[in-house]
Amino acid sequence: VRQVVVVHFDEIALKRGRRAYYEKRLVNGLENCCRDLGPPGIRALFDRVIVSGGKTEIPVAVLLDRFSRVFGVRYLREGWLTGTSPELLREAIDLVIASRPDARTFGVRVKGGQRSDLNRRSLDLAAELGAYVGGRTGWKVDLGSPDLWIEVLLDGAEALVSGRRVEGPGGLPIGTTGHGVALVSGGIDSPVAAWMMMGRGLRLSVLHFHSAPFTGRQSQAKVRDLALSLARYQPTIEVAMIPFAELQRALVAATPPRYRVILYRRFMLRIAEVLARAVGATCLVTGDALAQVASQTVENIGTIDAVAGLPILRPLIGMQKSSVVDLARELGTYEISIRPHEDCCAFLMPDRPATATTPAELTEVERDLPIAEWVAAAVAAREVFTTRFEDGLASSDSASA
Ligand code: ATP
Ligand code: MG
Repeated sequence: VRQVVVVHFDEIALKRGRRAYYEKRLVNGLENCCRDLGPPGIRALFDRVIVSGGKTEIPVAVLLDRFSRVFGVRYLREGWLTGTSPELLREAIDLVIASRPDARTFGVRVKGGQRSDLNRRSLDLAAELGAYVGGRTGWKVDLGSPDLWIEVLLDGAEALVSGRRVEGPGGLPIGTTGHGVALVSGGIDSPVAAWMMMGRGLRLSVLHFHSAPFTGRQSQAKVRDLALSLARYQPTIEVAMIPFAELQRALVAATPPRYRVILYRRFMLRIAEVLARAVGATCLVTGDALAQVASQTVENIGTIDAVAGLPILRPLIGMQKSSVVDLARELGTYEISIRPHEDCCAFLMPDRPATATTPAELTEVERDLPIAEWVAAAVAAREVFTTRFEDGLASSDSASA
């Protein structure tokens, strides 16, 4: 009897033509999250993927925990691979029973690899094993929504008996829809936005603008910790820190105060686009929600987007703040995001920002600015490091770009 994890896909099953590709990426996701532990043993059985601890005997509890954060996984079941004799099946079922002492109701399903196996024998076997479970535990049968489904898959001389279920995050495997750059501020919203887009299959790099030394270094420490938290879902994340204060001061000296935030955002996007193209990313991700602050009115979003040559994805645009906060709490980023920091955009901020600008207005405001030169200077001043999830903890290496 060999203990394994049974992986059930999310939407992958729907993408008929590209199923093989998505499956391969999902398997990469399962391998990547265990890179520090040695390769797990991965194989297919019918439409399931079965994972054992591999040569290094990774404990199944560790696999269940890590796989519960691999996008594309809908749910997992703890299972046992064994033979098909009644004694072996019962032995495996005893292990399933022991894994859910809190259950009160159960159902047994028996499936064969071939359609022709779904015959009388399967039904008889399900009834027989059901009677066995009922006798052992006193649990009641419920074929609607039992506390515990016990699933028996038969394939030749082999049987897979699975039980306890652990939910995955669902979505699409990371990397299947492309590569993006997420602008992460240290606030509550942007890490949630990044996580949501990872869940739609984007592999993300993280970009942060800070105003040190004119503000403290807290925002950078926060973004580092937020990246560590996101690395539980995408095990390797590149993070770039951009010193923004010089550019801000230059803008402040050359432009009217009411446009400041819009100008900061337009320059952030220009810089982000250069960095995105340099790493082959094809979209940007931000945590904007409509009308949450002055820079997020429909008009100002239009004015900000006008400078971008890449699509800007804003997964939170129609969400209520309380839902974003709930997600941040679940994700574990909330506690990091609420730590105090000095926002780079509060630095040199006017009391009354413009709430309804047009692209033409801003083009005029920026007319005499050496835009390309300032963007290039900011890009050149970046610091880049990589965040990795390992040993159940994330760590970072510094490396200059
Ligand atoms: P957040 O909670 O993510 O800070 P917010 O609702 O406070 O968002 P803003 O501070 O106006 O809104 O920022 C809007 C978006 O612009 C952020 O979600 C983020 O994607 C990006 N952004 C703002 N400031 C920075 C920064 N210093 N570095 C990187 N991205 C930033
Ligand atoms: Mg903010």
